[in-house]
Amino acid sequence: MTKNGLSPTAGDAESIARKIWSLDCRAEPLAGEVDRNFLLVTDSGDRWVLKISREGADEQALDCQVQALRFLEPSPVAHLVQKALPAADGRHLVPYEPSGGGPCWVRVLSFLDGSPLVNHQDRPRSFVEEIGRTLARFDLALAGFDHPGAHRDLPWDIERTHELGRFAEHISEAGRREIVERHLERFVSTVAPQLAELEHGFIHNDANDHNLMVRHGRSGEPSLAGLIDFGDSLHTITIAELAIAATYLMLNQDYPLTTASLVTAGYHSVRPLSATEQVLLFDLIKARLCASVLMSVRGLYFEPENEYLQISALPVWRLLERMTMIDPDEATRTFEDACAHSGTPVRDTEEILAVRRNHFGFNLSISYSEPLKIVRGEGQYLFDDNGRRYLDLVNNVCHVGHCHPYVVAAAHQQMEELNTNTRYLHDNLAEYALRLSGTFPEPLEVCFFTNSGTEANDLALRLARAHTGSKEIIVLDHAYHGHSPSLVEISPYKCEGPGGEGLAEHAHKVPMPDPYRGPHRGSEAGKGYADDVRKAITEIEGNGRKLGAFMAESLISCGGQIIPPPGYLSAAADAVRSAGGVVIADEVQVGFGRVGTHMWAFESQDVVPDIVTLGKPIGNGHPMAAVITTKEIATSFDTGMEFFSTFGGNPVSCAIGLAVLDVIEMQGLQQHALEIGNRLLDGLRELRTRHKLIGDVRGLGLFIGVELVRDREALKPASREASRVIDEMKERGFLLSTDGPLHNVLKIKPPMVIQAHDVDEVLEALDEVLAEFSTD
Ligand code: PMP
Repeated sequence: MTKNGLSPTAGDAESIARKIWSLDCRAEPLAGEVDRNFLLVTDSGDRWVLKISREGADEQALDCQVQALRFLEPSPVAHLVQKALPAADGRHLVPYEPSGGGPCWVRVLSFLDGSPLVNHQDRPRSFVEEIGRTLARFDLALAGFDHPGAHRDLPWDIERTHELGRFAEHISEAGRREIVERHLERFVSTVAPQLAELEHGFIHNDANDHNLMVRHGRSGEPSLAGLIDFGDSLHTITIAELAIAATYLMLNQDYPLTTASLVTAGYHSVRPLSATEQVLLFDLIKARLCASVLMSVRGLYFEPENEYLQISALPVWRLLERMTMIDPDEATRTFEDACAHSGTPVRDTEEILAVRRNHFGFNLSISYSEPLKIVRGEGQYLFDDNGRRYLDLVNNVCHVGHCHPYVVAAAHQQMEELNTNTRYLHDNLAEYALRLSGTFPEPLEVCFFTNSGTEANDLALRLARAHTGSKEIIVLDHAYHGHSPSLVEISPYKCEGPGGEGLAEHAHKVPMPDPYRGPHRGSEAGKGYADDVRKAITEIEGNGRKLGAFMAESLISCGGQIIPPPGYLSAAADAVRSAGGVVIADEVQVGFGRVGTHMWAFESQDVVPDIVTLGKPIGNGHPMAAVITTKEIATSFDTGMEFFSTFGGNPVSCAIGLAVLDVIEMQGLQQHALEIGNRLLDGLRELRTRHKLIGDVRGLGLFIGVELVRDREALKPASREASRVIDEMKERGFLLSTDGPLHNVLKIKPPMVIQAHDVDEVLEALDEVLAEFSTD
């Protein structure tokens, strides 16, 4: 509103936009504290905001705001601020004389979608941290900016808080007046003298819950849409940015200091706070609270009936009173702790990609065409650096849920106490060997502990060779068993792929027992594939050699989430043993109750292997693995040469392994996998009746594959479609990936804590995505 009380109308706004910016548009009034704001919508649907200043507003201060926005245009936070649109004559701030009013200034800014933070009281921790990180990015981006208008006198300048003390006498309630006076005294005696040594710079200076704009992703997670209203921006202590944001974030919170430490941790991870800044932060938050109540007291002094001022001051008073009860040293310790644990500097996606390009081995792939920066995990969910939540349907490593608190606590406790190796006696090791071996059928009872699936499989090869005296091994086509030379050369997935040198002479490949696409289908498939194993044995023996081992996953992962046909594994095992070989079951992916019906996937295939290797889920993400075998084989391996792994089976790993077994049991996760897996399988099968793209749905428990085909007769693989489905699902907040030699199988093997409502949401999203391919 102009000072003389005449408000510009939407018609005035349209005419300003047309005459000065050559914008043909419709105008609608928007709320505004100081300026009179209008939303402008052009014929082509572009949205802009016209800001008409108060009569006689300070040109320099307004120009400072506009120039600051222009300064940010090439910066990493450009997308989080409004852009100043030049008028037809190139100016960004234009004088304007309304009819019947005094001279003022007009400018047009882009429209920033979103709604103010004050409307979003559900604020996940990661989101609060993200606010801190973003504000720090703002401060870094603004560091080089200066302008004469940035050095004005502003009552909201935190460095001048004590000057507001003159209004304290108008605080009617004595107790409250005393609180404010006490804080101001402390500000003058201990804070003000240290301000000069703090870093100064140009800052937004008002990141309150009306100026931080929020939007929601598809999965409902809030993310920051931007920061508006540079009306209070100025040159002052840089830390004021954080202190002010923290103050408003703390309002109406049950644990305000926790909120403040989260935003501080986020901020510190991008723009590290100095020791003095950490010490002064709590006082600066209280200074801002005092400034806020004093400014409303001042307002009420001039407008005693202004109800808005009375109401809006209430939560501020409440927070100030609560802060008064907190020991300042305790608060400082909390902030120092938050900073100490805020982690390594946060880099954006581009920076991280650049580091990877230059300093990581080059042959590493990245998931998704637009890579994800995942910063947090909880249960079945992963969160990216914007606080967006994804349902994780692929990470079978974090078996009992990402960052399961019971597992984390077990690791933490044992790390605090001791970590050594298997050459000392330790209860954890004994207990774990007993517990783990106790889950296996006889005669599998001897454990070896290693650090990765590869090491476990490598050791399995050594065990088999020691026991049988032969290196000759039968493997499945497309199999993957590990990244060491001994395993690459027997893993067709690697050695027959790009850069591979072909199978080792001692490795013999048999077809993958794929009852959907492979050479043997129908009721005789199991027998057909077992005959292939027999043929391979005959060939080995025909060449005057003896079979050492048959190595296979109990259910096939990399090969395309395949469940072998009934009777296959047991018949193959019989043939292998008759030829003097041993059966190695690679359960690195499929063990620990995932199949639902049993703890180990081989149990679902009616076979007891001679050697079983475990990995991935065994430590819920902690690097550990194991080999379980028989006494007989372990004895053959005891050749005089010691087996020792520095880290394998250490007390921390065993504490974690025990915790994982505990959680599986306590939460009934095996049975849960069966129930949830069946719900998902049923839903997928129902989708198959409506979507031709789904050729096959297969699985056991939470080990599921969905094979996509362009034609159900010819089984033409729908590989491109599969990769589109993955991307579309990611957009909807679901992480999936493809598998199989033809890259046309959606693999589903989520953390075992996935819930029924998650399953329903996946099915709904998949239904939607698949509908886009429907040709009916
Ligand atoms: N076996 C199988 C079946 C696997 O899927 C993997 C890993 N993808 C490994 C062994 C190797 O495990 P790691 O990466 O822990 O060495």
